[in-house]
Amino acid sequence: MRSQFTAEPSSSDMADRDFTVGEVPAVVRAPATDADRAPVFDVIIAGCGPTGAMLAAELRLHDMRVLVVEKETEPKSFVRIVGLHIRSIELMAMRGLLERVLPHARRRPAGGFFAAIDKPAPKGLDSAHAYLLGIPQPVIERLLEEHATELGAQVRRGRAVTGFEQDDEGVTVELADGERLRTRYLVGCDGARSTVRKLLGVGFPGEPSRTETLMGEMEVGAPQEEITAKVAEINETRKPFWLRPFGGGVYSVVVPAVGVVDRAEPPTLEDFEHALRAIAGTDFGVHSPRWLSRFGDATRLAERYRAGRVLLAGDAAHIHPPIGGQGLNLGVQDAVNLGWKLAAQIRGWAPGTLLDTYQAERRPVAEDVLDNTRAQRELLSAEPGPQAVRRLLSELMDFDVVNRHLIEKITAIGIRYDFGDGPDLLGRRLRDIDVKQGRLYDLLHRGRGLLLDRTGRLSAGGWSDRIDYLADPTAALDVPCVLLRPDGHVAWIGDDQQDLDAHLSHWFGTPAG
Ligand SMILES: Cc1cc2nc3c(=O)[nH]c(=O)nc-3n(C[C@H](O)[C@H](O)[C@H](O)COP(=O)(O)OP(=O)(O)OC[C@H]3O[C@@H](n4cnc5c(N)ncnc54)[C@H](O)[C@@H]3O)c2cc1C
Repeated sequence: MRSQFTAEPSSSDMADRDFTVGEVPAVVRAPATDADRAPVFDVIIAGCGPTGAMLAAELRLHDMRVLVVEKETEPKSFVRIVGLHIRSIELMAMRGLLERVLPHARRRPAGGFFAAIDKPAPKGLDSAHAYLLGIPQPVIERLLEEHATELGAQVRRGRAVTGFEQDDEGVTVELADGERLRTRYLVGCDGARSTVRKLLGVGFPGEPSRTETLMGEMEVGAPQEEITAKVAEINETRKPFWLRPFGGGVYSVVVPAVGVVDRAEPPTLEDFEHALRAIAGTDFGVHSPRWLSRFGDATRLAERYRAGRVLLAGDAAHIHPPIGGQGLNLGVQDAVNLGWKLAAQIRGWAPGTLLDTYQAERRPVAEDVLDNTRAQRELLSAEPGPQAVRRLLSELMDFDVVNRHLIEKITAIGIRYDFGDGPDLLGRRLRDIDVKQGRLYDLLHRGRGLLLDRTGRLSAGGWSDRIDYLADPTAALDVPCVLLRPDGHVAWIGDDQQDLDAHLSHWFGTPAG
């Protein structure tokens, strides 16, 4: 029986697993009979951008059979310098990746990101990693992909998802070359123009792009003095523009595009010359481009993140202008929220609604990011009204509470999921603290839950296959006992075993045995 969308899968999603842990099966052809319809992969991920790579790694922590199919034959070459904000840096530390990232990144202060209003971060931000890491996007993508493949994920490049069909047992995914693969779940991490989202028929409402911006690297013929003078003049207008030496005679160019007719068509050097003449009165003699790209400022949010066995994450689920540098961060954080839940669903121990908490938790976070970028875009306008609001906000940011609120938003350390009534810490992530055994985040590398028990008399016994236990962890914790989910969020606080058991069941299903 086939339907496009199916209800919850049975809790015995793992029943017909017949593979050795870590083994990734070879390609299979389209199932000819019902007997052949048994899924060969647990999860196929469309797209090996930062979201897809991070999700693949998270799933491998739980021994899922993961295949990532990526449309492009080669990794991206265009160099967006992205900023990893505090929560993403914390996630890197939580998965043992920070040491890998640091040599490639420039550490910068965490402040000054909200609408580029130049205010330092308030003192005492609640994080052991209260800084920003500037890193080229291709580098962070490579590091995440390496992490995923080292953990056993398989990545196949030059393979675009072009279709799929889901039924009660799984999803048949069709690739551009006609190959068909069977999987239990499909996750679309295939970016803003997501094929998976479109095929699912999930709406992507919001505001279309109002402006297009060209970005690229090329050589420049004009003398440096002319460039410096023109750049200073144009920067006064607050337009998105720069012309910066990148090394080896190559310049990085960002300039508002003019007269874009077809957004699907890649930009040309002539488009850059035209745009530069429009803003600066000269094209600076640009030539010999290394790469050219264009981006818009559309703001859109997927109506839902899941339809049956198909889910969306990252830019496939939400897009917004790159103001404040949050898109990649948001996608990587989606992946860490989704990975353990999807693995639990496939393993068969996920409580009934666990997988749906992915959308319930992450969609409001994306809504908030979309809103803050809308606000920032207004504040960057050169019009007198927005400029007056900007001056006012700049004054307000001298109040610690305002500055702190905005920084916690941009850096995602202010997120509090709605886990019901309880202390303020409930639903928030716990910062990286010293514990007797070292650092807290070092204990989360395996992506398991963790019970931090200062009373020394509680137990997560029946769930020990999913949860680690730490007695008398640290004086830095000012509550008796904390249950952390694999994503580091506080799922329970208390000192009563019965209450703990109820919450363990709520998040981690029935105990083993
Ligand atoms: C100029 C600029 C600056 C930015 N700066 C920042 C910043 O400082 N900080 C920040 O956090 N974010 C920043 N962003 C946003 C960030 O680049 C994106 O949010 C991020 O790349 C999203 O990651 P993703 O993995 O979800 O999607 P993508 O990076 O778009 O990856 C999707 C992948 O899916 C592949 N794909 C597409 N279709 C298919 C298909 N049918 N089958 C298989 N594969 C497919 C694509 O080839 C691609 O590799 C910036 C964006 C721009 C444009």
